[in-house]
Amino acid sequence: MGKRRIMVWEYQCERCGHAWVPRLTFEPKICPSCKTPYWDRARHFPVSETRPAAKERGRPRQGEAAAPPARGEDEAAELDAAFDAIQRETERRKTAPD
Ligand SMILES: [Zn+2]
Repeated sequence: MGKRRIMVWEYQCERCGHAWVPRLTFEPKICPSCKTPYWDRARHFPVSETRPAAKERGRPRQGEAAAPPARGEDEAAELDAAFDAIQRETERRKTAPD
């Protein structure tokens, strides 16, 4: 057969949301993007309920569209990415159950 279709696992970091397909067959130890060894473990969940203060600190009162201050922006973005990753993972499991 000249070609064949194969199924591969796509891994997704629960911390930064980075998704990747490993060339090796064993479980990746760290996220290739943010290097966290906890790529398969979500932070406190749900993020918005357990850490409301952290999220608000990164947001200006005027509105969500305005640029947040430098301090706290990374944390807010990280939380957003983590939450987004969880949502995507949930969606993926719904559409492609094991
Ligand atoms: Zn990552």
